Amino acid sequence: MAEIEAVLAANEKASREVLAPRADEIDQTRRFPRENLKALGAAGILGLLIPQQFGGTGGTIPDMARALEMEARGCASTAMVTLMHYCAMATIAAKGSDELKKSVLPGAARGEHLGTLAFSEAGSGGHFYMPVSEARQNGSGKLLSANKSFVTSAGEADSYVVSTRRAGASGPTDVNLYLVPKGAGGFTVRGKFEGLGLAGNASAPATLSDVSVDDKARIGDEGSGFPTMLEVVLPHFQIGVASISIGIASAAFDLITTRVRERKYEQAGGAALASIPRVQFLVAEMAIELNAAKAYLNETIGKAMAGDPAAMIDVLGVKAKASESCLGIVSRAMTLGGGWAFGKRGGLERMFRDAQAAAVMAPASDVLKDFVGKASLGIPLF
Ligand SMILES: Cc1cc2nc3c(=O)[nH]c(=O)nc-3n(C[C@H](O)[C@H](O)[C@H](O)COP(=O)(O)OP(=O)(O)OC[C@H]3O[C@@H](n4cnc5c(N)ncnc54)[C@H](O)[C@@H]3O)c2cc1C
Repeated sequence: MAEIEAVLAANEKASREVLAPRADEIDQTRRFPRENLKALGAAGILGLLIPQQFGGTGGTIPDMARALEMEARGCASTAMVTLMHYCAMATIAAKGSDELKKSVLPGAARGEHLGTLAFSEAGSGGHFYMPVSEARQNGSGKLLSANKSFVTSAGEADSYVVSTRRAGASGPTDVNLYLVPKGAGGFTVRGKFEGLGLAGNASAPATLSDVSVDDKARIGDEGSGFPTMLEVVLPHFQIGVASISIGIASAAFDLITTRVRERKYEQAGGAALASIPRVQFLVAEMAIELNAAKAYLNETIGKAMAGDPAAMIDVLGVKAKASESCLGIVSRAMTLGGGWAFGKRGGLERMFRDAQAAAVMAPASDVLKDFVGKASLGIPLF
């Protein structure tokens, strides 16, 4: 426990001293935040969720949430790269064979191995848990071919957790997950990531053309990919994205509350923008939204950790709530920031763009509400 707190304290320091000062430059040049990851790796952050027997800290979802919120306050692109790494490592730690674990987890614990997820496909879009690609039998192994539409850390990660339907699949949820190492023959990154926000996270499309894997590369039992996505990936991803949204919103709130106190009007005898009731009203709305999202996230984490059967509805709902709260907060902050924010001074405009990603990252907010509605009414999700 003491070690987890020490790692989280190092994360906070790195976020303030390494991530935040570089965030605007990374956004403007759209470059992968390699030196940020090096700093996080050296501080043990990339090993936060790795079990102690493999050299990691043995942290769990609440620790992940704290780490990502803090990172997103400094640089949301770096936080998203870290989240995808956490999702990949948690999947291997939970379902991988001993051989797979030994091949990846110790390096990740040392900060020398970066992982990511290659799930989303052009054919099924935001319904990432239902890939349209299908493996083919190749002697005793398989050939993977897929058109992956967004892969965070594409070309930068050391390994990719790839989803695909089983050879001869019975349906869209008859899925396997494979670990594909960097440099595997047939794996190519298609172009650069040109997204609106999270400009540094290299979420480019990638193609797998007859990538050869054997059964040792499979994560979990034959056909276990879909339940693994629901049991392991989904809670980490949903809670992680919600934490990042809250981190962005918190940073925007801090920026704008400072700005409205410092912005003074000469024609009004030096009165601050903060003295105007309508400004105070908007700040109040932001504060209430932020606290509501944080409370929902904490409740969701509590239920998930307690194994509460009702946790799934909140795991689905919390990403939608946190991303929408974040969008509302950064939008109001942009209004109050006026020309200062619009002129890209202070970093608020970057946060406004970064905040947009969470709502469309799968499952998108609309899809999540479809799920929450069904679950609340007792209607099967799939
Ligand atoms: C910055 C970023 C990083 C990403 N990183 C990764 C990654 O590392 N790995 C990975 O696998 N993927 C990644 N993705 C992909 C992501 O998870 C989604 O798959 C992708 O954003 C979906 O885009 P799409 O245009 O195909 O959505 P579409 O499927 O075309 O959906 C478009 C919109 O339609 C609506 N919609 C669709 N279906 C329904 C429904 N049933 N009910 C209600 N509304 C619906 C929603 O509003 C949705 O936003 C990333 C995406 C972004 C933006």
